[in-house]
Order: sequence, then structure tokens, then C-alpha cells
Amino acid sequence: MLDNVEFLKEKMVLTCKVLQKQGVLDGYGHLSARLPGDRILSTPHMPPGKVALRDIIVIDMQGKKLEGSGEPNGETPMHTSIYKVRPDVQCILHYHPDEVVAVSVASQGIKVVANCGVHFYRGTPIYDSPVLIRNHERGDKVAATLGDRNAVLLRGHGGTVVAKDLDKLLRLGIDHVRSARIQIMTASLGPAKTHTQAECEEMVKGHDRPNTNRRYIDYYVSEVVD
Ligand SMILES: [Zn+2]
Repeated sequence: MLDNVEFLKEKMVLTCKVLQKQGVLDGYGHLSARLPGDRILSTPHMPPGKVALRDIIVIDMQGKKLEGSGEPNGETPMHTSIYKVRPDVQCILHYHPDEVVAVSVASQGIKVVANCGVHFYRGTPIYDSPVLIRNHERGDKVAATLGDRNAVLLRGHGGTVVAKDLDKLLRLGIDHVRSARIQIMTASLGPAKTHTQAECEEMVKGHDRPNTNRRYIDYYVSEVVD
């Protein structure tokens, strides 16, 4: 199990580096991953893109720190609330990309106007408050807004994506921002055609194939390692 935990920590650090390189992180935001026994690995209260292996902390399902020298993030309740109601979720990214914030204040959610948005075809509901998620009550409301989807927008604040593994989380984390960016670009061109429900369903059929994210992940990781 220890080896698995160390592997997971290394992968979290690499995921943060890739997201930082792609310009979707800033000084805030956080990434976490579920461990067996109601424990969670989390980036600590520091810029996630600057996190090293030694910085990753372990917290419990109440957000209390169990291991590590750093402190938990103020918005940890968002993570614990989602893990409690979504047993399928193994990792969570919360961040504040400008494009996602812009879409959230326009009350649009992510529209599937490009193939990178197809992950979000079941909707990206908007949590209708810009106030930070610093207590369990607000965490529970974000989790309820997320429902069974893989992304939720927080109005004027940012977005949260969830996944079953870190490869998928990385892909969703980048594609969420790309989708928002293309949506904003197309808005200046007049009415945009969105993918139909049938097109989206056809496209996501292949998403659970083994190694379906391999080429995508290899490309982005190659941008941060030699
Ligand atoms: Zn936030």
C-alpha cells in the first residue's frame, strides 16, 4: 500500500506541474486524491503548481490533517463533501481559470461547441455564489450542485472537476478550460452550433477504452519532463 501511496503522490505532483505549465492554475486552487480508509491525499495551503513530493499532506474525511508539515486548504470542505456522496470519485481538482470564471458569470455552463467539451455533455451546473467554500454546509451545497456530473462551476469564482483517476482528471482539467475558451471565442462570431446529444453519446462511448487517454497524457507530460 505504501508504494501505491508514494506512486499516487508522485502522480499528483506531476499532474499539478502539467496544469501549471498549461496556465490553468494560479496561486490558489488544490488537487486531492482518495486513499483507502477514509483518508485523502491533498496539496497543502500553497500554490498547487509549486507543490513538491514532500509537500503533499494526508487529511481525514472531516478535513483534519493526519500527516505532513503543510496546512489544509481553506476550501477543503468542498473535497470532503464530494468524496462523501460520490464513491466513484477518486480525485478532485478545484481551480480558478479566467475562462471558466467568465462562463460561470454568464450563467451558461460549458456548451459542447468543440470535441474537447464532449466530457461535459451531461451539463456543468453552476453553484450560484462567489463565496469561498470554507465550511461543510457550503461544501455539501457544492456537492449537491455537482450531482452525478464531472464538473461544477462556481459563479465568479472557478470550477471543480472530478474523476475516477488522475489521468482522467488531468484531461478534464485542461479540456474544461479549453472548452470555455472556445465557447467565449465563438460567442463573438454569432450563433454557435453545439454538438447534438446523439453526437456526444457516440463520442463518449470510446472514453472508457483502456489507454484512451495515453496519447493525450503523454503529450502534456512531455511538456514538463525531458
Ligand atoms: Zn476556490
